[in-house]
Amino acid sequence: MMAILILVAGMAIGSFLGALSYRLPRGQTVMEGRSLCDHCKRKIAWQDNIPFFSYLFLGGRCRHCNRQISKRYPFIELSTGLIFLGIYFLLNNCSGELAQTLCNWKVSLKLLTLPFLLFVASVMITIFVIDLEQKLIPDELSLFGFLIVLVAAIFLASFFANVFAGFLVSVILLLIHLVTKGRGMGLGDVKLALFAGTFLGWPYALTWLFIAFLTGAAVGIILILAGRASFGKQIPFGPFLVFSFFITIVVGSNFLNLILK
Ligand SMILES: [Zn+2]
Repeated sequence: MMAILILVAGMAIGSFLGALSYRLPRGQTVMEGRSLCDHCKRKIAWQDNIPFFSYLFLGGRCRHCNRQISKRYPFIELSTGLIFLGIYFLLNNCSGELAQTLCNWKVSLKLLTLPFLLFVASVMITIFVIDLEQKLIPDELSLFGFLIVLVAAIFLASFFANVFAGFLVSVILLLIHLVTKGRGMGLGDVKLALFAGTFLGWPYALTWLFIAFLTGAAVGIILILAGRASFGKQIPFGPFLVFSFFITIVVGSNFLNLILK
């Protein structure tokens, strides 16, 4: 029952994140009015704005002009719902083996852990979408996320280790940014590292960077071989950092142990 509630809440918040990730980089506020159809600019009625299901029901088309509704909306809604469900499941089943980072937070934040984690996940999902579409990470998102994590971390026994981890990974990315003169790594990634690293703590922040570089390199090579990208043309790194963030939450330090053995 609780799981269904989390899934539905996730899809509703995903609907908000879909609008936020569209409007924030365009300088529009999320609060201004209702959603409009991209083509005919008509308002979308509430019954046609139910996350994911309206999209299925309307066959992916606007009720008025019959043109295609962007697939990004149902995709973000469903992904957010499933990620929320995954976090809920992991939080209830975390152990020394699985999702250790979530366990760390649970010990200190108790009942506040779930809302805190869902907030962090929401910021991460929004960063993923905006960087993928616009190749930028708004400071508002990464710095606001960092601030909330920093305040929550005060309750952690490992407060200093977490702050150190966040500092270390952002310095690593900053050095890459300086050495590659901004081509390899944006300053947005540096600030995102402060947010993610402080959340993950030590040594998980290192697992996180490692998986991000690994997946980034693998996908980059595939895209270049497939002729979809070239060297010099920038592939945003943020989506890999966010993807790796969620993977690190699941596998924790196990991945690092496996590599170091
Ligand atoms: Zn329309």
